[in-house]
Amino acid sequence: MLNIVVCIKQVPMVTELPWDEKTGTLRRDLAAGMMNPACKHAVEAALRIKEAQGASITVLTMGPTAAEEVLREALAMGADRAILICDRTLAGSDTYATSFVLAEAIKKEVRGFDLILCGAYTSDSETAQVGPQLAEELHIPAAAYAEHLDISGRTLCVRRLVDNFRETLEMEFPALVTVSMEQYEPRYASFAGLNQAFIESDISVLNAQALGIKAADLDAHGSRTKVRKVFIRKTQKENVRITGAAANAVGEFLDRYQRTIGAVIGKSIEAKKQI
Ligand SMILES: Cc1cc2nc3c(=O)[nH]c(=O)nc-3n(C[C@H](O)[C@H](O)[C@H](O)COP(=O)(O)OP(=O)(O)OC[C@H]3O[C@@H](n4cnc5c(N)ncnc54)[C@H](O)[C@@H]3O)c2cc1C
Repeated sequence: MLNIVVCIKQVPMVTELPWDEKTGTLRRDLAAGMMNPACKHAVEAALRIKEAQGASITVLTMGPTAAEEVLREALAMGADRAILICDRTLAGSDTYATSFVLAEAIKKEVRGFDLILCGAYTSDSETAQVGPQLAEELHIPAAAYAEHLDISGRTLCVRRLVDNFRETLEMEFPALVTVSMEQYEPRYASFAGLNQAFIESDISVLNAQALGIKAADLDAHGSRTKVRKVFIRKTQKENVRITGAAANAVGEFLDRYQRTIGAVIGKSIEAKKQI
């Protein structure tokens, strides 16, 4: 029986959320949360493996207490066990810190795991970094954007479409795969499943100390990136007609827009007058 871990993240149900200038994080408290869509496809992939050949599925999330809800949803879909990593010191973690903490939790709480499934990316920050970084932290092989998984014995075969190329990759367990949203259409949780998950099931809630993560570890493995600001870029369109001979028109165009173009490409351009 395979020992599968699925990392899932709670994301805001809306795409536009105000930014908390003080904490440098999104005001997630202002929007209802939902399971990140790609994570649902990862849960579905795990459930299909379980149905096909037997597996125990542990779902794991790092987030605020409210993130418990997405764990219960995964239990309602058919996962067996759920772990919430919740600690103030981890709020606003970047992908580097997130991957480190998830790795520590898996090493401690899911010993002897065979397969880790993640969503390919999240709908809020979409870095697609956590899966591959988690594999690095655990020194295991990884494949991203999987569309189909085949398992025979200890060998995992991953099929995916990257840049219009169909690829088939093979690797030995333990391994990590991030699942794209092309296949593994997620099932709806049954009423019985929801009842069981939201009324009866237990969720292990662990903080950094329970995982044996010391402040020094968080310093050493703490966030390397800080999102300074999030804003919706306002685009401005204007119709400009430049007529006349090509050389003059180009010259006039450059005169008008060389600073704007320079700002966009991040370097100043000197209009070559001799066109
Ligand atoms: C607008 C914005 C931009 C950001 N930009 C950056 C950036 O450039 N670099 C950076 O390091 N951080 C960045 N962050 C912080 C980053 O969002 C967090 O670190 C986040 O927890 C993980 O990144 P992600 O959502 O992009 O994950 P992704 O790598 O896109 O997630 C892929 C998969 O990893 C798993 N996963 C991700 N987060 C968790 C979790 N908390 N618990 C369990 N599983 C999880 C899930 O399976 C998910 O489907 C940004 C945050 C915001 C809001």
